[in-house]
Amino acid sequence: MKIVYSEHHAQHDPQTFLVRGVIQRSAEQPERATRLLAAAKAAGHEIVAPQSLGLAPVQAVHTPEYIDFLQVAAREWAKLPGAGAEVVPNVHPARYPATYPTGIVGRAGWHQFDTGCPIGPGTWSAALAAARCATTAADLVLSGAREVYALCRPPGHHAYADMAGGFCFLNNTAIAVQQLRQRHERIAVLDVDVHHGNGTQGIFWERDDVLTISIHADPSFYYPYFWGHAHETGTGKGHGFNLNLPLPLGSPDGPWLGAGDKALARIRDFAPSALAVALGLDASEHDPLQGLKVTGVGFRAMAGKIASLGLPTVLVQEGGYLSDELGHNLVQFLAGFESARN
Ligand SMILES: [Zn+2]
Repeated sequence: MKIVYSEHHAQHDPQTFLVRGVIQRSAEQPERATRLLAAAKAAGHEIVAPQSLGLAPVQAVHTPEYIDFLQVAAREWAKLPGAGAEVVPNVHPARYPATYPTGIVGRAGWHQFDTGCPIGPGTWSAALAAARCATTAADLVLSGAREVYALCRPPGHHAYADMAGGFCFLNNTAIAVQQLRQRHERIAVLDVDVHHGNGTQGIFWERDDVLTISIHADPSFYYPYFWGHAHETGTGKGHGFNLNLPLPLGSPDGPWLGAGDKALARIRDFAPSALAVALGLDASEHDPLQGLKVTGVGFRAMAGKIASLGLPTVLVQEGGYLSDELGHNLVQFLAGFESARN
């Protein structure tokens, strides 16, 4: 399988992660991507570099003021007296009508919905390179490849059109979907990351041309808390075109694959001509975030089910954190996908 990868991801190395009031090193480390790449190479996959399509694919999903914010935030922040090394918001507009602020502290609170998406000097170029991996993968699929995997880092599925959050800045999966829309009328997104794909849901919330489905740990007790519940089904034209399949914390392969069957039934009913998979590997039983307990065999089985749809597919890397099994789980997923196609 072709794997689109850019080494520019390493320019983003977030240090700050606030957990239960304690500042830790972020789990979203560059080593994630290097381990995934090494495992994919060892398994014989072909690595290709992303192409630049300018900013147009990013602008097709994200707002102008948000893109501007991501580009200038680290520079503006560094001018503040006594500023830390990363942009981390300390104030948010919350749930009431509010006015877009001019200063960088206010803009940070407006565009970063949590503290899990610190912006450093290299964040913008890394996020843009990840988006380019996704658009290049989509272009390869548009050119006839059956499936292509975009090794994106930083991940994207928590990012809204105008907000970063949960390690995510540009929504690589949504950007790939918009690229596919050039030639596909109806596209399904299946998000198997352990966390709900709230940004992707938000971006397509009012649309009936993109079906969004997410299988994840129950957000009543797990990130992203405010989104991912079963009653969230879309609005307006998009009503009925979002399906959330939350699972109890700690669920193993059986329920996870069962949710996969429900997702595939809905996708078949929707009858898309292309598919994007938000491929988080953090549902693993070995993942440090410990939301679900999926095994390597489970990842392989899920991939086989998804591949059986027979759709042109872009696989977009989302979460999945450092464990000895991270690379193995990716290889299992890719092998399961390819063997079901052959
Ligand atoms: Zn995740």
